[in-house]
Amino acid sequence: MSVIVYIALGSNLDTPISHIQRACQELGALPQTRSLQCSRLYQSTPHGAADQPDYINAVVELETRLPSSELLSMLQSLEQAHGRVHTGERWGPRPLDLDILLYGDQQIDGPNLQIPHPYMVERAFVLYPLAELVTDLNIPGYGLLSDLLQTCPAGELEPLNEL
Ligand code: ADP
Ligand code: MG
Repeated sequence: MSVIVYIALGSNLDTPISHIQRACQELGALPQTRSLQCSRLYQSTPHGAADQPDYINAVVELETRLPSSELLSMLQSLEQAHGRVHTGERWGPRPLDLDILLYGDQQIDGPNLQIPHPYMVERAFVLYPLAELVTDLNIPGYGLLSDLLQTCPAGELEPLNEL
């Protein structure tokens, strides 16, 4: 059985735009998976450590037959193929970050995987690109995307082609 999943992409090191564009292609080429849509690219100011470059962000919609645990490990392999070294620093600079936002309508609360991604509901750089891909969406446990957007100002988030 296939499910619709949404993946958040982020990069702020080593030509971030090309990391994001390549990763969009690579996600669609994963086994048992096809890409349905990709949002525009956005530029955002960093969360966490402020002394790091701005981020490029996007959200991709996929249809996949991969179980969520396999999808996570394939995303981690892709991050590594893009030169990501896990330093243990949360929210530090990285050439590629791939987070599973939603996996169908499932709620998962495991040690290595939480879905919906726990921070997605408060991050403009996730909610605004996601809203480009869907008219509205129930985020299991959190409510409607349209309601979450009301309480999450876009701030300094900018679509790239409008800079
Ligand atoms: P962050 O994305 O919060 O900056 P990392 O990318 O370094 O942090 O990921 C840290 C851990 O988050 C990963 O080892 C992974 O097991 C875990 N994780 C939990 N839920 C998810 C999810 N929905 N998508 C991706 N990783 C997740
Ligand atoms: Mg991550």
